[in-house]
Amino acid sequence: MKIGILDIQGDVSEHFQMIKRLPGKYHAVPVMVKTVNDLAGISGLIIPGGESTVIYMLLKKSGMYEKIVEMAHSGLHIMGTCAGAILVSRDTGDKQVEGMNLIDISIKRNAYGRQINSFIQKINISGIGNFDAVFIRAPEIESTGNSEVLGLENGKPVIVREGNIMALTFHPELTGNTGVHELFVSGITG
Ligand code: GLN
Repeated sequence: MKIGILDIQGDVSEHFQMIKRLPGKYHAVPVMVKTVNDLAGISGLIIPGGESTVIYMLLKKSGMYEKIVEMAHSGLHIMGTCAGAILVSRDTGDKQVEGMNLIDISIKRNAYGRQINSFIQKINISGIGNFDAVFIRAPEIESTGNSEVLGLENGKPVIVREGNIMALTFHPELTGNTGVHELFVSGITG
């Protein structure tokens, strides 16, 4: 099973390594996705954290934006982390980044302040348990609509899922814990 890592900008190689490290039972093979053609044959796609405005612009330019939306509607599993969560959301409240409207959340960019306000917080995630969540210029999920909340930080949702789409505002690729990646991949095989 091929898991695509959107290779435009941001924490690309960290996600690649996480998928590579997953136990063999998942049969997950990471592949870099740089062009529309690279999207062919993948069962899941990770949209990494980074700078959502840059990722958005390059997705639009390359035609990948529309193709990813189309594939998600046909069942492609997507995990959007941080900037990636902004991209899959219904509403970003920011003209610079149009959400793909793949999950029923509204989200606010840079809600926790600047880079210097980054922090790590132990949270509890349904199906995983304790997880050290790294927040870097994180967005805030302001409304969760029809999505299921899998974890909270300080009473606010930070990881949500709706159908084939997962969105989280922290960086699961920056700790040694592969739990979130396992949750994502096991959701694909059912
Ligand atoms: N603040 C970034 C943005 O709006 C997201 C930060 C991140 O992905 N770590 O794109």
